Amino acid sequence: MIFYVDFQDKSAKFERRKPINTILTMYGKFQKYLQDELKAIDEAGLYKRERNIASPQSAEITLQDGSKALNFCANNYLGLADDKRLAEAAKMAMDARGYGMSSVRFICGTQDIHKDLEKAISEYFHTEDAILYAACFDANGGVFEPLFTAEDAIISDSLNHASIIDGVRLCKAQRFRYANADMADLEAQLQAAQACRHRIIVTDGVFSMDGNVAPMDKICDLAEKYDALVMVDESHSAGVVGPTGHGVAEQFNCYGRIDIFTGTLGKAFGGAVGGFTTGRKEIIDMLRQRSRPYLFSNSIPPMIAGAALEMFKMLGESDALHDKLVENVNYFRDKMMAAGFDIKPTQSAICAVMLYDAPLSQKFAAKMAEEGIFVTGFYYPVVPKGQARIRVQLSAAHERAHLDKAIAAFIKVGKELGVLK
Ligand SMILES: *Cc1c(COP(=O)(O)O)cnc(C)c1O
Repeated sequence: MIFYVDFQDKSAKFERRKPINTILTMYGKFQKYLQDELKAIDEAGLYKRERNIASPQSAEITLQDGSKALNFCANNYLGLADDKRLAEAAKMAMDARGYGMSSVRFICGTQDIHKDLEKAISEYFHTEDAILYAACFDANGGVFEPLFTAEDAIISDSLNHASIIDGVRLCKAQRFRYANADMADLEAQLQAAQACRHRIIVTDGVFSMDGNVAPMDKICDLAEKYDALVMVDESHSAGVVGPTGHGVAEQFNCYGRIDIFTGTLGKAFGGAVGGFTTGRKEIIDMLRQRSRPYLFSNSIPPMIAGAALEMFKMLGESDALHDKLVENVNYFRDKMMAAGFDIKPTQSAICAVMLYDAPLSQKFAAKMAEEGIFVTGFYYPVVPKGQARIRVQLSAAHERAHLDKAIAAFIKVGKELGVLK
């Protein structure tokens, strides 16, 4: 007998299960295992807690308890996260094209504005085509497997983002790793990979812990010498580095020498959500055929496509936000160095204040929070052993008074903790 469920039968009641004594079930054992692991994470000081913000993301934020803080740990590099014009564009797109797409791109999840946005991304990066993803994590997760096989080689910077590492894991290509931005090591790895059919060098544009920039000109030179493709993830660099903030390709004048760019709409580009891959026509074409996060995951909503289009329009009209960001970075770095702090030579909007001591980095960040300044303390395993630091992220949303308040707090806490004499 075939039993059909009557979806309309609202009278159908399911017998509620009684709570089961979890100790006697499989979950009881698993629960104990998780509890022990979580305790170990907490005891190692690595337990992540969230900050609950009850205002828009901005330079100055209000927390759930009503207190205010200055935010120096968002990726809001151009200060667009609470931009009125972008919010307005998002509302207009929602009015005109609805709330959601309820589809992957290739079935029925593409609107005119999705295509327009892909075109705007290609124009921004001077490439032939672009493909949207729900996030850059997906762009990186879906870029290698469709393009490379066991006959090929992926040569990856040791400090590349987790999503690149995961993307490479999903692909059968041979893996080579070079020390961060170390061109001698890259050359050695290229030599080791010469027997492979195709080679690709993969790097972040800006590395998120030191704020250093990948030497794209030298990477492209080596790629030409050893016949390799080049891919750069511009997530922390687009909108930030280069004379007009167009990223590392602009900074090193490498247009035409980079085959694949990936990036996010979640950092400088408005901070909402969304990612993309852009580059040579056939590469993007192949991703549309075979890239799994594109084929099997939902389309970005119309409001994001509409607002992102407006964002590229805004950046095309004026470099003022980028100019202000650069001014803020220079001001902050110079004042902090003059105060006696040990600053990594930043080439981006990321400024690493070196403390070298893990507990000190946590104490420092906590005391800064008491002063109303949000910064992040990082230590091993996020950064190498003995390289603990405070990471500061500057934004065009910061006004001079915000920067001065943060610098004054750094000096106060630095003296209290004996970092400054
Ligand atoms: C933030 C970041 C990502 C992830 O971007 P999402 O769009 O938030 O998924 C990928 N790569 C790099 C280098 C990043 O910094």
